[in-house]
Amino acid sequence: MADDMQLKGAVIDAVGMIEDPVSKKTLLDAHMVEDVVVQGGEVTVKIAFPANYPKDERWVVEDNVHDAVEKIGGAKKINVVGFVEGQGAGAPPAAAAGHAHAHSHDHGHDHGHSHEPAKGLSGKSGAVPASKSLEGVGRVIAVASGKGGVGKSTVAVNLALALQRLGYRTGLLDIDIYGPSLPTLLGINERPNVKNKRIVPPEIHGMKVMSLGFLMEDDTPVIWRGPIVTGIIRQFLQDVDWNGLDYLVVDMPPGTGDAQLSLAQTVPVDGAVVVTTPSDLALVDAARGLRMFNTLNVDVLGIVENMAWFQWPGAAASHTAIAKLKASGADAKAVAELANALSENERVYIFGREGGRREATRLGTPFLGEIPLDERVRYGGDNGNPVVVAEPDGAVARAFAALAEKVAQAKPVEREAGAGRKGLFSFLKG
Ligand code: ADP
Repeated sequence: MADDMQLKGAVIDAVGMIEDPVSKKTLLDAHMVEDVVVQGGEVTVKIAFPANYPKDERWVVEDNVHDAVEKIGGAKKINVVGFVEGQGAGAPPAAAAGHAHAHSHDHGHDHGHSHEPAKGLSGKSGAVPASKSLEGVGRVIAVASGKGGVGKSTVAVNLALALQRLGYRTGLLDIDIYGPSLPTLLGINERPNVKNKRIVPPEIHGMKVMSLGFLMEDDTPVIWRGPIVTGIIRQFLQDVDWNGLDYLVVDMPPGTGDAQLSLAQTVPVDGAVVVTTPSDLALVDAARGLRMFNTLNVDVLGIVENMAWFQWPGAAASHTAIAKLKASGADAKAVAELANALSENERVYIFGREGGRREATRLGTPFLGEIPLDERVRYGGDNGNPVVVAEPDGAVARAFAALAEKVAQAKPVEREAGAGRKGLFSFLKG
Protein backbone atom coordinates (compact mmCIF):
# COMPACT_ATOMS: atom_id res chain seq x y z
CA MET A 1 0.00 0.00 0.00
CA ALA A 2 2.65 2.47 1.14
CA ASP A 3 4.71 1.48 -1.87
CA ASP A 4 1.76 2.12 -4.16
CA MET A 5 1.28 5.55 -2.66
CA GLN A 6 4.96 6.37 -3.09
CA LEU A 7 4.95 5.12 -6.63
CA LYS A 8 1.82 7.13 -7.40
CA GLY A 9 3.50 10.29 -6.12
CA ALA A 10 6.58 9.60 -8.24
CA VAL A 11 4.46 8.87 -11.32
CA ILE A 12 2.47 12.09 -10.92
CA ASP A 13 5.69 14.06 -10.55
CA ALA A 14 7.38 12.45 -13.53
CA VAL A 15 4.40 12.40 -15.89
CA GLY A 16 3.31 15.88 -14.89
CA MET A 17 6.64 17.33 -15.98
CA ILE A 18 6.57 15.85 -19.50
CA GLU A 19 6.19 18.51 -22.15
CA ASP A 20 3.11 18.45 -24.32
CA PRO A 21 4.52 18.86 -27.87
CA VAL A 22 1.44 20.79 -28.97
CA SER A 23 0.90 23.39 -26.25
CA LYS A 24 4.56 23.30 -25.10
CA LYS A 25 3.28 23.28 -21.53
CA THR A 26 3.87 20.48 -19.07
CA LEU A 27 1.16 17.81 -19.09
CA LEU A 28 0.13 18.94 -15.60
CA ASP A 29 -0.20 22.58 -16.63
CA ALA A 30 -2.03 21.54 -19.79
CA HIS A 31 -4.44 19.58 -17.53
CA MET A 32 -3.87 16.45 -19.55
CA VAL A 33 -3.12 14.09 -16.64
CA GLU A 34 -6.59 12.74 -16.13
CA ASP A 35 -5.80 10.12 -13.53
CA VAL A 36 -3.02 8.05 -12.03
CA VAL A 37 -3.95 4.76 -10.38
CA VAL A 38 -1.42 2.44 -8.76
CA GLN A 39 -2.60 -0.87 -7.45
CA GLY A 40 -0.31 -3.69 -6.39
CA GLY A 41 2.47 -2.11 -8.42
CA GLU A 42 0.37 -1.85 -11.58
CA VAL A 43 0.39 1.71 -12.85
CA THR A 44 -2.39 3.15 -14.99
CA VAL A 45 -2.02 6.67 -16.33
CA LYS A 46 -4.95 8.25 -18.14
CA ILE A 47 -4.17 11.09 -20.46
CA ALA A 48 -6.90 13.39 -21.73
CA PHE A 49 -6.18 14.87 -25.14
CA PRO A 50 -8.03 17.95 -26.29
CA ALA A 51 -10.37 17.47 -29.27
CA ASN A 52 -8.58 17.48 -32.65
CA TYR A 53 -5.28 16.69 -31.01
CA PRO A 54 -2.94 15.41 -33.77
CA LYS A 55 -2.77 11.62 -33.69
CA ASP A 56 0.98 11.36 -34.20
CA GLU A 57 1.68 13.72 -31.33
CA ARG A 58 -0.65 11.68 -29.21
CA TRP A 59 1.41 8.61 -29.68
CA VAL A 60 4.53 10.57 -28.86
CA VAL A 61 2.95 11.70 -25.60
CA GLU A 62 1.76 8.21 -24.73
CA ASP A 63 5.21 6.78 -25.39
CA ASN A 64 6.86 9.49 -23.35
CA VAL A 65 4.50 8.80 -20.47
CA HIS A 66 5.26 5.11 -20.65
CA ASP A 67 8.99 5.73 -20.72
CA ALA A 68 8.84 8.17 -17.84
CA VAL A 69 7.02 5.63 -15.67
CA GLU A 70 9.41 2.88 -16.70
CA LYS A 71 12.38 5.06 -15.74
CA ILE A 72 11.09 5.45 -12.18
CA GLY A 73 11.35 1.70 -11.71
CA GLY A 74 9.15 -0.40 -9.48
CA ALA A 75 6.11 -0.64 -11.74
CA LYS A 76 5.02 -4.23 -12.37
CA LYS A 77 2.85 -3.25 -15.28
CA ILE A 78 2.32 0.07 -17.03
CA ASN A 79 -0.89 1.04 -18.76
CA VAL A 80 -1.15 4.31 -20.60
CA VAL A 81 -4.70 5.13 -21.59
CA GLY A 82 -5.20 8.10 -23.84
CA PHE A 83 -8.56 9.46 -24.83
CA VAL A 84 -9.96 12.53 -26.47
CA GLU A 85 -11.89 15.07 -24.47
CA GLY A 86 -15.14 16.37 -25.86
CA GLN A 87 -15.46 20.00 -26.95
CA GLY A 88 -15.80 21.53 -23.49
CA ALA A 89 -17.83 19.91 -20.78
CA GLY A 90 -21.06 19.69 -22.71
CA ALA A 91 -19.92 17.39 -25.48
CA PRO A 92 -21.61 14.01 -25.57
CA PRO A 93 -19.22 11.43 -24.19
CA ALA A 94 -19.94 9.13 -27.09
CA ALA A 95 -18.09 11.59 -29.30
CA ALA A 96 -15.06 11.39 -27.08
CA ALA A 97 -15.27 7.64 -26.74
CA GLY A 98 -15.47 7.27 -30.50
CA HIS A 99 -11.96 8.62 -30.83
CA ALA A 100 -10.51 7.03 -27.79
CA HIS A 101 -7.38 5.06 -28.04
CA ALA A 102 -6.51 2.63 -25.33
CA HIS A 103 -2.83 2.09 -25.20
CA SER A 104 -1.57 -0.62 -22.97
CA HIS A 105 2.02 -1.60 -22.43
CA ASP A 106 3.33 -4.58 -20.61
CA HIS A 107 6.41 -3.81 -18.65
CA GLY A 108 9.54 -5.33 -20.04
CA HIS A 109 8.06 -6.00 -23.47
CA ASP A 110 8.53 -4.21 -26.66
CA HIS A 111 5.43 -2.15 -26.96
CA GLY A 112 3.19 -1.21 -29.82
CA HIS A 113 -0.01 0.77 -29.98
CA SER A 114 -3.07 -1.30 -29.43
CA HIS A 115 -6.32 0.11 -30.75
CA GLU A 116 -8.84 -1.27 -28.33
CA PRO A 117 -12.40 -0.13 -28.38
CA ALA A 118 -12.97 2.79 -26.05
CA LYS A 119 -14.37 1.89 -22.72
CA GLY A 120 -15.42 5.22 -21.33
CA LEU A 121 -15.13 6.02 -17.68
CA SER A 122 -16.37 2.90 -16.03
CA GLY A 123 -16.00 0.38 -18.72
CA LYS A 124 -19.69 0.79 -19.45
CA SER A 125 -21.14 2.20 -22.60
CA GLY A 126 -24.44 2.58 -24.33
CA ALA A 127 -27.65 4.28 -23.29
CA VAL A 128 -28.12 5.16 -19.67
CA PRO A 129 -31.40 3.93 -18.30
CA ALA A 130 -33.50 6.74 -16.92
CA SER A 131 -34.08 6.48 -13.19
CA LYS A 132 -37.55 6.86 -11.82
CA SER A 133 -38.27 10.32 -10.52
CA LEU A 134 -38.91 10.74 -6.83
CA GLU A 135 -42.44 11.27 -5.73
CA GLY A 136 -43.03 14.63 -4.12
CA VAL A 137 -39.64 16.08 -5.04
CA GLY A 138 -39.23 19.08 -7.34
CA ARG A 139 -35.54 18.96 -8.20
CA VAL A 140 -32.82 16.56 -7.15
CA ILE A 141 -29.40 18.19 -6.84
CA ALA A 142 -26.38 15.90 -6.45
CA VAL A 143 -23.33 17.19 -4.63
CA ALA A 144 -20.29 15.24 -5.78
CA SER A 145 -16.53 15.34 -5.73
CA GLY A 146 -13.79 13.55 -7.62
CA LYS A 147 -12.04 12.70 -4.36
CA GLY A 148 -12.69 12.58 -0.63
CA GLY A 149 -11.83 15.23 1.90
CA VAL A 150 -12.58 18.29 -0.22
CA GLY A 151 -15.62 19.21 1.88
CA LYS A 152 -18.34 17.66 -0.27
CA SER A 153 -20.57 16.67 2.68
CA THR A 154 -20.02 20.02 4.36
CA VAL A 155 -21.08 21.78 1.17
CA ALA A 156 -24.10 19.49 0.74
CA VAL A 157 -25.39 20.17 4.26
CA ASN A 158 -24.84 23.91 4.17
CA LEU A 159 -26.14 24.25 0.63
CA ALA A 160 -29.35 22.45 1.65
CA LEU A 161 -29.75 24.71 4.68
CA ALA A 162 -29.05 27.79 2.57
CA LEU A 163 -31.68 26.72 0.01
CA GLN A 164 -34.10 26.30 2.85
CA ARG A 165 -33.29 29.79 4.15
CA LEU A 166 -34.15 31.11 0.71
CA GLY A 167 -37.63 29.72 1.33
CA TYR A 168 -37.45 26.45 -0.56
CA ARG A 169 -38.67 23.29 1.11
CA THR A 170 -35.48 21.31 1.12
CA GLY A 171 -34.48 17.80 2.03
CA LEU A 172 -31.09 16.21 2.36
CA LEU A 173 -30.16 12.67 1.46
CA ASP A 174 -26.78 11.17 2.29
CA ILE A 175 -25.83 8.13 0.23
CA ASP A 176 -22.11 8.31 0.83
CA ILE A 177 -21.62 4.56 1.10
CA TYR A 178 -18.01 4.99 2.23
CA GLY A 179 -18.90 6.87 5.37
CA PRO A 180 -22.21 8.65 5.72
CA SER A 181 -21.36 11.89 7.54
CA LEU A 182 -24.76 13.49 7.87
CA PRO A 183 -25.41 12.11 11.37
CA THR A 184 -22.22 13.85 12.60
CA LEU A 185 -22.67 17.03 10.58
CA LEU A 186 -26.22 17.50 11.79
CA GLY A 187 -25.84 15.87 15.18
CA ILE A 188 -28.58 13.29 14.78
CA ASN A 189 -28.68 9.57 14.69
CA GLU A 190 -32.28 8.51 14.68
CA ARG A 191 -33.77 5.48 13.14
CA PRO A 192 -36.44 6.79 10.82
CA ASN A 193 -40.08 5.98 11.56
CA VAL A 194 -42.24 4.00 9.23
CA LYS A 195 -45.76 5.21 8.56
CA ASN A 196 -48.19 3.69 6.07
CA LYS A 197 -45.35 1.49 4.81
CA ARG A 198 -43.25 4.53 3.96
CA ILE A 199 -40.08 5.76 5.66
CA VAL A 200 -40.63 9.10 7.35
CA PRO A 201 -37.36 11.05 7.42
CA PRO A 202 -36.45 12.75 10.69
CA GLU A 203 -36.32 16.53 10.63
CA ILE A 204 -33.53 18.72 11.83
CA HIS A 205 -33.29 22.49 11.50
CA GLY A 206 -36.69 22.16 9.84
CA MET A 207 -35.24 20.00 7.08
CA LYS A 208 -36.09 16.41 6.23
CA VAL A 209 -32.99 14.30 6.23
CA MET A 210 -32.17 10.73 5.38
CA SER A 211 -28.81 9.06 5.65
CA LEU A 212 -27.49 5.60 5.08
CA GLY A 213 -25.88 6.25 8.47
CA PHE A 214 -29.33 6.03 10.12
CA LEU A 215 -29.62 2.49 8.90
CA MET A 216 -26.10 1.29 9.59
CA GLU A 217 -24.53 0.61 12.96
CA ASP A 218 -21.44 2.72 13.62
CA ASP A 219 -19.15 -0.23 13.11
CA THR A 220 -20.91 -1.71 10.08
CA PRO A 221 -18.12 -2.76 7.77
CA VAL A 222 -18.37 -1.03 4.46
CA ILE A 223 -19.05 -4.02 2.29
CA TRP A 224 -21.77 -1.96 0.65
CA ARG A 225 -20.62 -2.03 -2.88
CA GLY A 226 -21.88 -2.37 -6.41
CA PRO A 227 -25.19 -3.97 -7.18
CA ILE A 228 -26.13 -4.70 -3.56
CA VAL A 229 -25.98 -1.15 -2.46
CA THR A 230 -27.55 0.16 -5.66
CA GLY A 231 -30.52 -2.12 -5.16
CA ILE A 232 -30.93 -1.13 -1.55
CA ILE A 233 -30.70 2.54 -2.35
CA ARG A 234 -33.17 2.32 -5.22
CA GLN A 235 -35.67 0.66 -2.92
CA PHE A 236 -34.96 3.03 -0.11
CA LEU A 237 -35.35 6.09 -2.36
CA GLN A 238 -38.77 5.06 -3.56
CA ASP A 239 -39.89 4.28 -0.02
CA VAL A 240 -38.99 7.57 1.62
CA ASP A 241 -41.86 9.95 2.13
CA TRP A 242 -40.37 13.32 1.17
CA ASN A 243 -43.81 14.85 1.20
CA GLY A 244 -43.54 17.80 -1.12
CA LEU A 245 -40.01 19.13 -1.42
CA ASP A 246 -38.76 21.83 -3.75
CA TYR A 247 -35.18 20.58 -3.61
CA LEU A 248 -33.58 17.37 -2.49
CA VAL A 249 -29.83 17.74 -2.05
CA VAL A 250 -28.00 14.43 -2.33
CA ASP A 251 -24.58 13.88 -0.78
CA MET A 252 -22.97 11.41 -3.18
CA PRO A 253 -20.03 9.13 -2.41
CA PRO A 254 -16.73 10.71 -3.48
CA GLY A 255 -14.95 9.52 -6.60
CA THR A 256 -15.87 8.36 -10.05
CA GLY A 257 -15.68 4.60 -9.88
CA ASP A 258 -18.37 2.09 -10.72
CA ALA A 259 -20.17 2.51 -7.38
CA GLN A 260 -20.55 6.24 -7.93
CA LEU A 261 -21.56 5.78 -11.51
CA SER A 262 -24.31 3.30 -10.73
CA LEU A 263 -25.57 5.44 -7.86
CA ALA A 264 -25.69 8.50 -10.07
CA GLN A 265 -27.80 6.36 -12.41
CA THR A 266 -30.02 5.14 -9.59
CA VAL A 267 -30.90 8.55 -8.22
CA PRO A 268 -32.89 10.69 -10.65
CA VAL A 269 -30.49 13.63 -10.58
CA ASP A 270 -31.61 16.90 -12.19
CA GLY A 271 -28.36 18.72 -11.70
CA ALA A 272 -24.91 18.11 -10.24
CA VAL A 273 -22.65 20.39 -8.27
CA VAL A 274 -18.99 19.36 -8.23
CA VAL A 275 -16.96 20.37 -5.18
CA THR A 276 -13.21 20.84 -5.40
CA THR A 277 -10.39 22.58 -3.59
CA PRO A 278 -8.11 24.84 -5.63
CA SER A 279 -5.21 22.34 -5.52
CA ASP A 280 -4.05 20.84 -8.81
CA LEU A 281 -4.72 17.24 -7.87
CA ALA A 282 -8.22 17.95 -6.63
CA LEU A 283 -8.90 19.75 -9.89
CA VAL A 284 -7.83 16.74 -11.93
CA ASP A 285 -10.34 14.68 -9.96
CA ALA A 286 -13.03 17.34 -10.31
CA ALA A 287 -12.68 17.22 -14.08
CA ARG A 288 -13.22 13.47 -13.91
CA GLY A 289 -16.34 14.01 -11.81
CA LEU A 290 -17.68 16.38 -14.39
CA ARG A 291 -17.05 13.89 -17.13
CA MET A 292 -18.89 11.20 -15.19
CA PHE A 293 -22.04 13.30 -15.10
CA ASN A 294 -21.66 14.14 -18.76
CA THR A 295 -21.48 10.43 -19.46
CA LEU A 296 -24.80 10.06 -17.69
CA ASN A 297 -26.31 13.07 -19.43
CA VAL A 298 -26.80 14.74 -16.07
CA ASP A 299 -26.75 18.50 -16.23
CA VAL A 300 -23.65 19.81 -14.43
CA LEU A 301 -24.67 23.03 -12.69
CA GLY A 302 -21.04 23.92 -12.09
CA ILE A 303 -18.01 23.82 -9.84
CA VAL A 304 -17.78 25.07 -6.25
CA GLU A 305 -14.37 25.89 -4.88
CA ASN A 306 -14.18 24.95 -1.20
CA MET A 307 -11.31 25.95 1.10
CA ALA A 308 -10.68 28.74 -1.41
CA TRP A 309 -8.65 30.76 1.08
CA PHE A 310 -8.05 31.04 4.78
CA GLN A 311 -9.40 34.21 6.28
CA TRP A 312 -7.11 35.52 9.01
CA PRO A 313 -9.40 35.54 12.05
CA GLY A 314 -7.94 38.79 13.42
CA ALA A 315 -8.86 40.75 10.30
CA ALA A 316 -12.26 42.09 11.40
CA ALA A 317 -10.97 43.35 14.75
CA SER A 318 -7.95 44.92 13.04
CA HIS A 319 -10.14 46.74 10.52
CA THR A 320 -12.16 48.14 13.41
CA ALA A 321 -9.00 49.25 15.19
CA ILE A 322 -7.72 50.94 12.03
CA ALA A 323 -11.04 52.74 11.56
CA LYS A 324 -10.73 54.04 15.14
CA LEU A 325 -7.19 55.17 14.48
CA LYS A 326 -8.38 57.06 11.42
CA ALA A 327 -11.21 58.71 13.35
CA SER A 328 -8.77 59.79 16.05
CA GLY A 329 -6.95 61.93 13.50
CA ALA A 330 -3.82 59.77 13.13
CA ASP A 331 -1.47 60.28 10.17
CA ALA A 332 -3.75 59.54 7.18
CA LYS A 333 -0.95 58.11 5.01
CA ALA A 334 0.23 55.74 7.72
CA VAL A 335 -3.34 54.61 8.40
CA ALA A 336 -3.95 53.99 4.70
CA GLU A 337 -0.74 51.93 4.49
CA LEU A 338 -1.83 49.90 7.47
CA ALA A 339 -5.26 49.30 5.96
CA ASN A 340 -3.69 48.24 2.65
CA ALA A 341 -1.26 45.86 4.28
CA LEU A 342 -4.12 44.28 6.17
CA SER A 343 -6.33 43.93 3.09
CA GLU A 344 -3.53 42.31 1.13
CA ASN A 345 -2.73 39.78 3.81
CA GLU A 346 -6.01 38.85 5.42
CA ARG A 347 -6.64 36.08 2.89
CA VAL A 348 -4.14 33.25 2.66
CA TYR A 349 -4.51 31.02 -0.40
CA ILE A 350 -3.37 27.78 1.18
CA PHE A 351 -4.31 25.42 -1.65
CA GLY A 352 -3.61 27.86 -4.48
CA ARG A 353 -5.59 30.75 -5.80
CA GLU A 354 -8.71 30.54 -7.96
CA GLY A 355 -7.92 27.08 -9.26
CA GLY A 356 -11.60 26.10 -9.25
CA ARG A 357 -12.58 29.19 -11.17
CA ARG A 358 -9.91 28.58 -13.81
CA GLU A 359 -10.85 24.92 -14.11
CA ALA A 360 -14.51 25.83 -14.60
CA THR A 361 -13.55 28.17 -17.43
CA ARG A 362 -11.33 25.55 -18.98
CA LEU A 363 -14.06 22.93 -18.87
CA GLY A 364 -16.73 25.32 -20.07
CA THR A 365 -18.88 24.86 -16.98
CA PRO A 366 -20.29 27.57 -14.68
CA PHE A 367 -18.33 28.63 -11.62
CA LEU A 368 -20.77 28.61 -8.73
CA GLY A 369 -18.69 30.29 -6.05
CA GLU A 370 -16.07 29.91 -3.40
CA ILE A 371 -16.24 28.94 0.26
CA PRO A 372 -13.41 30.04 2.53
CA LEU A 373 -11.48 27.72 4.80
CA ASP A 374 -12.76 28.73 8.20
CA GLU A 375 -12.42 26.91 11.49
CA ARG A 376 -16.06 27.64 12.30
CA VAL A 377 -17.03 25.42 9.36
CA ARG A 378 -15.04 22.56 10.80
CA TYR A 379 -16.18 23.19 14.33
CA GLY A 380 -19.84 23.43 13.30
CA GLY A 381 -19.50 20.25 11.30
CA ASP A 382 -17.99 18.30 14.17
CA ASN A 383 -20.65 19.50 16.58
CA GLY A 384 -23.79 19.02 14.57
CA ASN A 385 -24.26 22.75 14.20
CA PRO A 386 -23.62 23.70 10.57
CA VAL A 387 -22.18 27.16 10.03
CA VAL A 388 -25.21 28.35 8.02
CA VAL A 389 -27.33 27.79 11.16
CA ALA A 390 -24.67 28.64 13.77
CA GLU A 391 -23.69 31.96 12.20
CA PRO A 392 -26.42 32.78 9.73
CA ASP A 393 -25.15 36.30 9.06
CA GLY A 394 -21.44 35.48 8.85
CA ALA A 395 -19.27 35.56 5.75
CA VAL A 396 -19.37 31.78 5.26
CA ALA A 397 -23.17 31.66 5.47
CA ARG A 398 -23.29 34.47 2.92
CA ALA A 399 -21.05 32.46 0.60
CA PHE A 400 -23.44 29.49 0.92
CA ALA A 401 -26.44 31.77 0.33
CA ALA A 402 -24.84 32.97 -2.91
CA LEU A 403 -24.22 29.36 -3.92
CA ALA A 404 -27.82 28.40 -3.13
CA GLU A 405 -29.09 31.27 -5.25
CA LYS A 406 -27.02 30.13 -8.21
CA VAL A 407 -28.25 26.55 -7.83
CA ALA A 408 -31.85 27.73 -7.58
CA GLN A 409 -31.43 29.90 -10.65
CA ALA A 410 -29.92 27.05 -12.61
CA LYS A 411 -32.71 24.61 -11.69
CA PRO A 412 -35.66 26.77 -10.75
CA VAL A 413 -38.78 25.47 -9.04
CA GLU A 414 -41.88 27.49 -8.36
CA ARG A 415 -41.86 28.71 -4.82
CA GLU A 416 -45.15 28.73 -2.98
CA ALA A 417 -46.78 32.12 -2.61
CA GLY A 418 -45.60 33.74 0.62
CA ALA A 419 -42.59 31.46 0.83
CA GLY A 420 -39.46 32.60 2.62
CA ARG A 421 -39.31 32.40 6.37
CA LYS A 422 -43.08 31.90 6.48
CA GLY A 423 -42.84 29.06 4.02
CA LEU A 424 -40.26 27.48 6.24
CA PHE A 425 -42.59 27.42 9.22
CA SER A 426 -45.49 26.04 7.28
CA PHE A 427 -43.16 23.27 6.16
CA LEU A 428 -42.23 22.59 9.77
CA LYS A 429 -45.85 22.17 10.71
CA GLY A 430 -46.58 20.03 7.66
P1 ADP B 1 -15.81 15.12 2.09
O1 ADP B 1 -17.30 14.92 2.18
O2 ADP B 1 -15.39 15.75 0.79
O3 ADP B 1 -15.00 13.92 2.44
P2 ADP B 1 -16.12 16.69 4.51
O4 ADP B 1 -17.26 17.58 4.19
O5 ADP B 1 -16.36 15.52 5.40
O6 ADP B 1 -15.39 16.22 3.17
O7 ADP B 1 -14.95 17.62 5.10
C1 ADP B 1 -13.71 17.10 5.50
C2 ADP B 1 -13.22 17.90 6.70
O8 ADP B 1 -12.92 19.24 6.30
C3 ADP B 1 -14.27 18.03 7.81
O9 ADP B 1 -13.60 18.01 9.05
C4 ADP B 1 -14.87 19.39 7.58
O10 ADP B 1 -15.38 19.97 8.78
C5 ADP B 1 -13.68 20.17 7.05
N1 ADP B 1 -14.08 21.27 6.14
C6 ADP B 1 -14.78 21.16 5.00
N2 ADP B 1 -14.93 22.37 4.42
C7 ADP B 1 -14.31 23.28 5.23
C8 ADP B 1 -14.12 24.70 5.21
N3 ADP B 1 -14.58 25.45 4.21
N4 ADP B 1 -13.45 25.25 6.24
C9 ADP B 1 -12.97 24.49 7.27
N5 ADP B 1 -13.10 23.17 7.35
C10 ADP B 1 -13.77 22.55 6.35
